[in-house]
Amino acid sequence: MESARDKYTREIVEAEELWQLPTVDRKGYECGSCGVDVYPASYLKTNLKRPYFSLYGDTDHLNGCDVEGDKKTVARGKKGSVRDELETSPGLSPSRLTLRDERVAVDPTLPRTSAQTSSARTARRDIDSETVRPVGRRAANTIRPICRAFLNFPFDRNMSLDVPGVDDKTYWTAFKKLGAGNKGIETFERPKIFYAELAWAKAQEDDGSLTIPLSAGEWSTDRKLVRHYKVRVSWAKWSKYKRTVVRNEMEVVREEGIKAKKKNLKDRAYIFFIGDQDEDDPTIFNVSDHRLICGLLGALIIVS
Ligand SMILES: [Zn+2]
Repeated sequence: MESARDKYTREIVEAEELWQLPTVDRKGYECGSCGVDVYPASYLKTNLKRPYFSLYGDTDHLNGCDVEGDKKTVARGKKGSVRDELETSPGLSPSRLTLRDERVAVDPTLPRTSAQTSSARTARRDIDSETVRPVGRRAANTIRPICRAFLNFPFDRNMSLDVPGVDDKTYWTAFKKLGAGNKGIETFERPKIFYAELAWAKAQEDDGSLTIPLSAGEWSTDRKLVRHYKVRVSWAKWSKYKRTVVRNEMEVVREEGIKAKKKNLKDRAYIFFIGDQDEDDPTIFNVSDHRLICGLLGALIIVS
């Protein structure tokens, strides 16, 4: 499972967020739908594999849990619209991005609280306590679940999406692929969730920033990338935990992409981000918040 609920804060936690915790409470998570205990796996900072949550061997999801149904919806969503399911699922297709107060939810050095946030409020109650199936689409606290929905549901990109600072309010219009149409290095006036394939070269880091090369930009006539877009993550003021999340995710998705290519799969490593195009060098996009960048492996399906 890609996410679970923190038993103490009641927040839905993405597995990648485990990378930014100083210590992981192995008993602290439950299924976000049915509440059965799950455990975090592959979360060590030195482990170059994406973290996830898993059921204990002798258990199963409770009756009525959404996890299996959600998997089927994702599979069907690659072949046609699954809009009705997305409208009534909390997590599959987030309706908006809400950056929550980091002092409460993200700073790992502060004590945990049971602060009610949008994701905790709108989560379904445990099935065994009371049958309440109120909610529609939930807010996301990073762009990652939004970007996953963009890849997973190509036939439903007309769904609404409210990202602060991005004026275009559907999945279809809020995202913009860098390098599309072979136009060389472009200047973009409208803020978007930009995305591109990751280059195979490793990201370069120093104390001020992490620079991630993208496989998009200006190509020569003999099909070499002569100028490529890059994402510069300005992390001088970040804690080492926040740096870990971004550094690890970039390296893990790079490895995932290389493996997929070797296996001849259609999946590619994509970097998604919200950032400002540099005024002096338009090949550079500056990103300053770790919640506004992610790397996902997927097959990009364009539906026209
Ligand atoms: Zn469950």
